[in-house]
Amino acid sequence: MLRIAIQKSGRLHEDSLSLLKECGIKVRNGNGQLKSVASNFPLEVYFLRDDDIPQYVSDGVADVGIIGKNVFLEKEKDIRMVTELGFGQCRLSIAMPKSSPYQSFKDLAGKKIATSYPNLLRKFLEERKVPAEIHNISGSVEIAPGIGLADAICDLVSSGSTLFTNGLREVETILYSEAVLVNNRMAETGETGNLFRKLLFRIESVKNAANTKYIMLNVPNVNLDKIFNVLPGLKSPTVVPLAEEGWSSVQSVVKEDVFWEVIEKLKSLKAEGILVMPIEKMVL
Ligand code: ATP
Ligand code: ZN
Repeated sequence: MLRIAIQKSGRLHEDSLSLLKECGIKVRNGNGQLKSVASNFPLEVYFLRDDDIPQYVSDGVADVGIIGKNVFLEKEKDIRMVTELGFGQCRLSIAMPKSSPYQSFKDLAGKKIATSYPNLLRKFLEERKVPAEIHNISGSVEIAPGIGLADAICDLVSSGSTLFTNGLREVETILYSEAVLVNNRMAETGETGNLFRKLLFRIESVKNAANTKYIMLNVPNVNLDKIFNVLPGLKSPTVVPLAEEGWSSVQSVVKEDVFWEVIEKLKSLKAEGILVMPIEKMVL
């Protein structure tokens, strides 16, 4: 049985469960449950506070875990980061009251900075040889400057609206973070290792399919070569002749971020009847 620790509730909870679901693993998550056993994969899921997951994984109570890279790096436990998971994006940033002048990190010298990430902040300051005071607090970091507890904060930001509401502006970004899969060394050996690799293979297939679309289109044969240049596909596009003389149907895979650009180029090459479909899994 493989044991995975995921966040009990909070920003990573839903996406962690969805990832398991997309891996074809059914997990029931009853209210307030501490653990749950998957019905169709030898997997036990522990629901924990994200801050506790690195310790549980390094102690071997759980074999694998899903946490933010920020927590992985801050906790400095004896665990490995296996892969990034493509959700939970945020950044760890230093922010100051809007009215405070700020030109460069040198202006942090002598300042008191409140944070729940003392290790990551200390590293940032040490690397730049900035003498600042770190004030370690566990929650509601963003109100610290407003109540006179600190001159600046170092906290997680995604949209920046929390900073804005509290009259703060972002002045430095320390780390770009997203959810990551972590494990301990033992999780890669024996039967646990086999199950771990099976899970990782499924996760990679889900990740490969994310942000990709399957595309089908009809094109005049005279433009096929140019179309192939626009559509790199996985290995090469699939081409099937159409009943209509001089035309073919082409099928390929397109990355979402270049999708519209590709479509425009295809249209200019006289492509017709373009169909776009989601891809659920991609096994490479
Ligand atoms: P827990 O009760 O598990 O300790 P928490 O309050 O520490 O929960 P959340 O706020 O749910 O944690 O955030 C969990 C993770 O989600 C963070 O460690 C981070 O990796 C990620 N995350 C993504 N966007 C944000 C954001 N805007 N603010 C905070 N965390 C974010
Ligand atoms: Zn936490």
